[in-house]
Amino acid sequence: MNIHQEIHIPAHLWIGSPDKLQEKAISYIQTIFCLYRGCGTCVTCLLISEKRYYAAQWVVPEKQWYTIGDLEQITKTVVFMLDEGRNYVIVLEDADKLSASCANSLLKMLEEPPQGYQFILLASRQDLVLPTVASRCLVYVVPSSSTHNEIASFCELFKVMPNSMVIFDKMYESSFVGEQDPLLILDEISSYWMSAYQKLMLDGEFLKAQHIYHIVAELSYAYEHLPMPGSSKMFWRNLLLKIMITLR
Ligand SMILES: [Zn+2]
Repeated sequence: MNIHQEIHIPAHLWIGSPDKLQEKAISYIQTIFCLYRGCGTCVTCLLISEKRYYAAQWVVPEKQWYTIGDLEQITKTVVFMLDEGRNYVIVLEDADKLSASCANSLLKMLEEPPQGYQFILLASRQDLVLPTVASRCLVYVVPSSSTHNEIASFCELFKVMPNSMVIFDKMYESSFVGEQDPLLILDEISSYWMSAYQKLMLDGEFLKAQHIYHIVAELSYAYEHLPMPGSSKMFWRNLLLKIMITLR
């Protein structure tokens, strides 16, 4: 999902490691206000990265949990609608530190802020954010670079077959595959086998291509039978076994 296409939903909830989220929020805000869509070097971009830009407010809890006092700066700011084309972004860090009573004072605002206001809520885990809050937001999981690498090596298993399933089990346990969108992983694996298939066809290697075609068919089947919650490991394990059998 491209977060920039979803700008019409006024509240986003981003989940990920705090460092990564800060970085992401800064570059996102830069693309909104920078004349060059986030060059990273102009005065606007610099002010945003230093959290000193006038139209981007960063809110953090003073103590362990948010208090009504912490949120006052928001309720005081978000009052009137802005002129057409004007934007104001509020970044609420540690959104998992909102108590129910605090969150209540925000709900209406998150859902229908006056024109021009946009909220970005940051949290390390979605299950710690109140459902009343999360349900009003577009939720976006920001993968950490280490997660990204783990997913890439996991996909690698489906391209270069492992010698034994023990490797699969180890890799699965150590990665966050179960928490990822299975479509992203399938896309990665499919595009590899599709291009392998096309290349063999172009080279006139029809017999080999036929083999690969069976893998492509297994993958299309997998697209139509995505894993249910809790059955992710079984799903990937079966898919890998089917591919391995095809190649044998
Ligand atoms: Zn700039």
